[in-house]
Amino acid sequence: MTTPLMTEVIATKRDGGTLSEAQIRAFIEGYTRGDVPDYQASALVMAIFLNGMEPDEFTTWTDAMLHSGDVLDLSDIPGVKVDKHSTGGVGDKVSLVLAPLVASAGVPVPMISGRGLGHTGGTLDKLESIPGFRTDLSVGRFRELVASLGCGLIGQTAEIAPADRKLYALRDATSTVPCIPLIASSIMSKKLAEGIDALVLDVKTGSGAFMQRLEDSRTLAQTMVRIGEGAGRRVRALITDMDAPLGECIGNALEVVESIEVLHGGGPADLRELTIELGAEMLVLGQVASDLDAARATLAAHLDDGRAAKRFAEIIEAQGGDPRVMDDTSLLPDAPTVAPFVAARSGYVTGFACAEVGRAAMVLGAGRATKEDRIDPGVGLIVHARRGDRVEAGQPLVEIRARDEATRAACVERLAASIHIGDTAPEVPPLVLERLGG
Ligand code: URA
Repeated sequence: MTTPLMTEVIATKRDGGTLSEAQIRAFIEGYTRGDVPDYQASALVMAIFLNGMEPDEFTTWTDAMLHSGDVLDLSDIPGVKVDKHSTGGVGDKVSLVLAPLVASAGVPVPMISGRGLGHTGGTLDKLESIPGFRTDLSVGRFRELVASLGCGLIGQTAEIAPADRKLYALRDATSTVPCIPLIASSIMSKKLAEGIDALVLDVKTGSGAFMQRLEDSRTLAQTMVRIGEGAGRRVRALITDMDAPLGECIGNALEVVESIEVLHGGGPADLRELTIELGAEMLVLGQVASDLDAARATLAAHLDDGRAAKRFAEIIEAQGGDPRVMDDTSLLPDAPTVAPFVAARSGYVTGFACAEVGRAAMVLGAGRATKEDRIDPGVGLIVHARRGDRVEAGQPLVEIRARDEATRAACVERLAASIHIGDTAPEVPPLVLERLGG
């Protein structure tokens, strides 16, 4: 069989055609090896973004990504291994609380996370703001941690789903993230490679999500549940509200601080609630709780009595980080300037252009505009304004933690367009909008 030419592969998709199995495997294998350059990969990914993929094409694409590296077998570790993955949101630091919390309740959590993508933050960038914390552990060390502490927190390695590692960064820099087949294959290829028995998906919907319309989020959730179940895993998907930032903090070290607050039994109510809702599904799938209510009670107790916080300290230490941050968050990176963003008028906070809030944090340096950009872990936003709050003109709505005046000014420009104030208090939707999967 002749090897497909990349120019032909790109042209097939550009013209709305269907890629053959040979074309898909040649691209994924070639790109992973470094034989296909970024410019050709960018062109193909953009063509997929514009023209979509047929179900068979998409199944082959996901399979090729899954097998671009090793597929872990954790069956020698006792217990039902369960992970959670979010499609990405603004201020979504749930994984930092959830992984140690669920592990402390007896369910092993082998978690492979991503970096910031577009306007959304990434678990790896947040964890790496903890001094010394390593997310690039070997697979052997990852296994040891899952076996001993019930949890390891790493990124895609050269061994696990390497195709996603490259494509994820490329999509981030080419504005090709919000695409159902590309998101579903990205998430499910790395999740199926990490040796889990079951998976809980947090599929975001709203102005801060990649899928802004509920019906698109539902299609994404159904697509991922189908792939997971087709591969013999139990999968639950929660469609959750992302029309407002989750919690108050956006930015890497700031999000660690807020996660530590929740792990100590405090922190914002929405972050605690969503963590418990996702965790409850994990405890039931992990067969350590008989139903969701019993699971919720267990998780609340582990947050309030310090068991989850203790587990996170152990994980931090095992991954090379400084566990003293649990009691002294001044050890985390900070930003040199703090300035308020104030309300232009009086009224009620009616909502957010939430992705724009994420981009306001990004321009401070909390996210990447290009693949090579370095994250500034200390910068970010503390959004005090919540939907439904009554505010007065001149009242501080957001605290901006910036590195310098230029980035602060760029951030203010974006914030001005992203917090909506009106005359009547809005209805605030529930955090969990729908549940799918068995
Ligand atoms: N999260 C992922 O892991 N991949 C995507 O494409 C989007 C969100």
